[in-house]
Amino acid sequence: MNTALSDLEQAIEPLRKRYIGQRVGPYLAWNKVSRTQIWQWCAAMGDTHPEYLGGETAIAPPTMLQSWTFRDVHGDYAPGSTDQNTYEVLGKLDELGYFGSVAVSYDQQYLEYLHEGDHVHSFSTISDISALKNTALGTGCFVTELAEYFRQDKTLIGTATITYLKYQPNQTSTGAPPSSPRKIERIRPVENTDSQHYWQGLRDGKLLIQQCSDCDVSRHPPQPMCEACQSINWHTVESTRRGKIYSFTSIHHPEIPPFDSPNCIVLVDLDEGVRIAAQITGVKYDELKIGMPVRANIVEVQKGLSLPIFEVEQ
Ligand SMILES: [Zn+2]
Repeated sequence: MNTALSDLEQAIEPLRKRYIGQRVGPYLAWNKVSRTQIWQWCAAMGDTHPEYLGGETAIAPPTMLQSWTFRDVHGDYAPGSTDQNTYEVLGKLDELGYFGSVAVSYDQQYLEYLHEGDHVHSFSTISDISALKNTALGTGCFVTELAEYFRQDKTLIGTATITYLKYQPNQTSTGAPPSSPRKIERIRPVENTDSQHYWQGLRDGKLLIQQCSDCDVSRHPPQPMCEACQSINWHTVESTRRGKIYSFTSIHHPEIPPFDSPNCIVLVDLDEGVRIAAQITGVKYDELKIGMPVRANIVEVQKGLSLPIFEVEQ
């Protein structure tokens, strides 16, 4: 390790001594396991496994593990929970300048099923604060938390191991505000074998819609197989970019650069028979109406990324 890093390490060492291995809890669930919550989860996930709701006593999907001891909107756990804060160490790292925060891994282990009426509580332990590392985001350390979930009879039903990277962002390693803030760009879409034609088409100024070469059914967004006949043979047709608004929403808060505020998003039924989501501009959010005729322009929103952006067709 170089000298600069070992100096920084010395500031973190007391945090390791204080927090690693400190087990905090219990954190109590606000509600007992109920059929209603299981139904909501299964409905949202599209999980139709008969064991979960079919029997006299509903069984909770193990993947609901973390949801049982969620805090409420005020950040509070149910009465009877500890006042100690598992994440105090993250605040201490903030104070040392490691205010960048990103979750890097999350592993769950399922040991027992939960049934209707069970009441969950959890304990949390900071299990590791790594040596300082130089990462692409900046210099920082990995903080690992082990959460243990228990039934009311103290049976361990599952665990979750969560690792965060706490880092000093590269541009602000001195703690001073950046002199010239980096321009915030849109997250680039994934371009793979199945979608590359779509993004390249937009760069070429065309909105390309996939069409099945065997049954002629059009589809969007891009996918490798036809839902109607399961054929993997396809070609594209160039859209006229005309359609009608099927639905819309406008996002006012929070403002998220680089997007406009309010950011008006429309679902459009294109004349080619597929539905597409995109931004609409040139119209006030409260003037949008279902059924409005619209047409998309292809706009290069940043270098190498072009998107269809709708406007109302007069
Ligand atoms: Zn087909």
